Amino acid sequence: MTQAKYADLHVHTFYSDSTFSPEEVVSCAKEQGLAAIAICDHDTVDGIDPCMALGLENGVEIIPGIEMSVEKMDAEIHVLGYFIDWKQEWLRKKLKEIQDSRVERIFVMIEKLKAMGVNIDAEEVFKIAVNKGSVGRLHVAKAMLNSGAIKNLREAFGKYIGFAKPCYVPYAKLSTKDTMELILKSGGVPVIAHPDLIGNDEYISEFIDYGLRGLEVYHTDHKSHVSKKYEAMAKELGLIMTGGSDCHGMGKGRILMGTVRVTYELVERLKEEARKIKDDPSTRPMGK
Ligand code: AMP
Ligand code: ZN
Ligand code: FE
Ligand code: FE
Repeated sequence: MTQAKYADLHVHTFYSDSTFSPEEVVSCAKEQGLAAIAICDHDTVDGIDPCMALGLENGVEIIPGIEMSVEKMDAEIHVLGYFIDWKQEWLRKKLKEIQDSRVERIFVMIEKLKAMGVNIDAEEVFKIAVNKGSVGRLHVAKAMLNSGAIKNLREAFGKYIGFAKPCYVPYAKLSTKDTMELILKSGGVPVIAHPDLIGNDEYISEFIDYGLRGLEVYHTDHKSHVSKKYEAMAKELGLIMTGGSDCHGMGKGRILMGTVRVTYELVERLKEEARKIKDDPSTRPMGK
C-alpha cells in the first residue's frame, strides 16, 4: 500500500520573516514527512531557488509561491500565489520596489515607536531580518522584545504595530486588482490567505471578480469551526481549498511546519489550475 502524501502549503523562509534558512526549512519538512511544501514569503521569491535545490536532494517537492498584502480601510488581506513563474524579471523588479518601501517604512515606524517611549535601532531590525529580502513587523517586534520594551510579540502588535494601532505604518502595497493581475500574469493561482484574520468576508467577492481561485481554509489561526465555515464557503463559491501552517521558523514562538497539512490531491488540483492560468491568464473559474 502506498502511503498518503501530505503538503504544507504556507511556509516562510528568512528571506522574509521566518527565522529558518532554506536548509532548516527543507530539513524540517523532511522530518515532518511532508511530500511537498509551498514557499510563500512576503513580497519576495528569493527563497525559492535555494529551497528547490535542497528539496531535490532531500525528496521534498518545493512549490514556488508568494504572499502579498492588500490594504483596505479596515483590514489587511493576504493573498497567496501558487506556482508563480518566479524567475521573471518584471516580477522581481516589481517586488524589489515593494521591498524598498518596506525598508523606508521601518524608519517611520521607529520614529513613531520613539514617540511612545520605545527605543529600537533600525540597524538592529535589519540585523534580525538577516538583511535579506522583505523586512517587516515581525522583525520590529523581535527588536522591541530584545530591547525589553514589551513582554511578548502579542503586546507588540496589540499595543503598537498591529493594523491600525498607533505605530502601524503601511508600505507601498498594490491594489486588489493589481495584486491579482500580478499573480495571474506570473502564472500563479491566487488564493486568499487565512481569511478569518481579515475579519470581513465581504472582501472575498471583490477578489473573485478579479479572478480569485481559492481560499486557505486550513490555517494555524483557524479553529475547526472556522475551517468548516470556509470549507462550506469554498464549495459554494467554487473555490479551491488550500491549507498551511504559516510556519515562520521560531518567529512565532514555536515551529509550526506540518501542524497544518493537506492531502497531495489538493496540490494536483492547484497544478491543474496553474496550467489553465498559464494557458490563458484571462480565464475565469466558473465561466466568469
Ligand atoms: P508585515 O509584512 O510587516 O505587514 O508583517 C506581517 C507579519 O506580521 C506576518 O508574519 C504576520 O503574521 C505578522 N502579524 C501581523 N499582525 C499580527 C498580529 N496582530 N499578531 C501577530 N503577528 C502579526
Ligand atoms: Zn510573516
Ligand atoms: Fe499572512
Ligand atoms: Fe504567511
